Amino acid sequence: MPRDFDAVVVGAGFAGLYMLYRLRALGLRVRVFEAGGGVGGTWYWNRYPGARCDVESLDYSYAFSEELQQEWEWTERYASQPEILRYLEHVAERFDLLRDVQLETRVLAAHFDDARNAWQIETDRGLVAATYCIMATGPLSCALTPAIPGHEEFRGATHHTGRWPHAGVDFRGLRVGLVGTGSSGVQAIPLIAREAADLTVFQRTATYAVPGHNAPLSPEYQRDVKQRYRAFRTIGRQKHLGFGADYPTAGDLGSATGSAERAARYQEYWERGGLHFMGAFVDLMLDAQVNETAAEFVRGKIGGVVADAAVAERLSPRQVIGCKRLCVDTGYYETFNRENVHLVDVGRTPITSFTERGLRVGDTEYVFDAVVFATGFDAMTGALDRIDIRGRAGQALKEKWSAGPRTYLGLGIAGFPNFFVVVGPGSPSVISNMVPAIEQHVDWIADCIAHLRSRGFRRIEATPEAEDAWVAHVNEMASFTLFPTCNSWYLGANVPGKPRVFMPYLSFPLYAAKCAEVVANGYEGFALG
Ligand code: FAD
Ligand code: NAP
Repeated sequence: MPRDFDAVVVGAGFAGLYMLYRLRALGLRVRVFEAGGGVGGTWYWNRYPGARCDVESLDYSYAFSEELQQEWEWTERYASQPEILRYLEHVAERFDLLRDVQLETRVLAAHFDDARNAWQIETDRGLVAATYCIMATGPLSCALTPAIPGHEEFRGATHHTGRWPHAGVDFRGLRVGLVGTGSSGVQAIPLIAREAADLTVFQRTATYAVPGHNAPLSPEYQRDVKQRYRAFRTIGRQKHLGFGADYPTAGDLGSATGSAERAARYQEYWERGGLHFMGAFVDLMLDAQVNETAAEFVRGKIGGVVADAAVAERLSPRQVIGCKRLCVDTGYYETFNRENVHLVDVGRTPITSFTERGLRVGDTEYVFDAVVFATGFDAMTGALDRIDIRGRAGQALKEKWSAGPRTYLGLGIAGFPNFFVVVGPGSPSVISNMVPAIEQHVDWIADCIAHLRSRGFRRIEATPEAEDAWVAHVNEMASFTLFPTCNSWYLGANVPGKPRVFMPYLSFPLYAAKCAEVVANGYEGFALG
């Protein structure tokens, strides 16, 4: 079979679009395959009411083009889904990317042909061959609906937040059930509550939500940032989460701070809003006692907002704060003061089944016109697991990863030559501001391919030794922290049967430095041939 492309990229979100831009600039023939009917990835699929970013827009955007970052005007501190989608569509148009993106095409398989040193990529529209195969399939793109018996019996509508109908959903006058209180549920609940006749929230684990204090972006502030955008980005990338240049980071320990001063600090960070809250002390995710002081502070806020003390108590989380991703909210807890909103605990008694009319929990039937699943994703590995990926000697990636994902730097995989993953397991990815994490990965991959081509190498592959050492290091980093203490999707704990392994690498700057060092040492840990 002839080689159709130098590179195939799977996915047209932030990662796939920028990958195409970089590879095309190197002169490669590239094809992007995207299952969706448009570009945008996350922001194409997640159209539920209230969907917006939780990293501020001035940070959560591409830095690769000075013109682009100067031209684009964000309207809010945290942009809404329609605005981010418009931005990504603008990027695709502005850089003439669409002509190499094939939409509505799902990649089903990618097999490495050793003799021809090529990837054979099977889509639902045919087969192509390419030298490089790059997975930009997204760490949170594989929506997860729990297997609740009797789904087919339910006469009402069901929707998943991550696969929201393009026409929107009119909840007016409807009795709505909503399952899940992670970031998606926390964003959707206040808006659905305002529209629906009645909303019942099924909560398995109470969640910590910190107000985002979302507001229109002042033109003065935006102008100010744009005047120093390059420095703003550089400082942001030096922070552990890859953003927040304008927010000084506390460098002190909660354990060495008195309780009154600690409470004042939490209040200050609460007012700052959003994910910054976890930066109040450097040992918040290291010391369980300090973490509990922050958790208690947030529980106090919940008690102060929710009028019914019993409801406030049920909404008050008990796990380590920050262990599951912190939610950033607009009026989440306040929503439970509305008369048309009800909270049902399904932590001890899970949802038993669907009925014709709604959901059953134990002996109680709840009647609904529509049920919303805000139940999350098979994160980091889900999209890759759903493609039949085979490396050298026909080794299946799914099999290789049966005890948990194994990568070198999250970028490369031993046994899978000329195969790259953007923001894959073993990289900071979901634990950081993802746009700079994506840019750093894409730049690394593009530079690597340019290096191979300029030196006449035809193949690159992570060595098993480098991969083993990296997997151990990723685990070791997590083991110093409180992250392994709860059932989070970072650990795969939301997917029945998924191996419990902490998947992201903690610390964006340390990671980026390591990637640069690997290059400086002649692609240390990779075999080039
Ligand atoms: P995606 O945007 O997920 O794109 C991957 C694409 O690959 C998808 O369009 C998918 O259809 C396609 N694809 C997958 N498999 C196949 C296949 N087999 N064949 C063809 N196509 C395929 N991160 C932040 O840092 N800050 C935020 O504020 C933030 N907010 C978020 C809000 C929501 C609601 C969600 C779900 C996630 C959020 N994230 C946030 C994480 C977000 O996923 C990333 O920031 C970023 O958008 C990921 O871009 P990506 O290109 O890597 O993946
Ligand atoms: P999530 O964080 O995994 O939350 C899923 C929710 O559904 C959890 O409350 C979970 O309970 C619950 N759930 C799952 N299965 C259930 C079942 N069978 N019965 C009852 N409850 C069930 O998913 P998400 O809210 O979609 O968010 C995923 C990630 O996407 C976020 O962490 C974030 O990284 C990103 N995101 C960001 C934003 C933003 O603010 N910008 C918005 C949305 C998503 P348990 O906790 O008990 O598992």
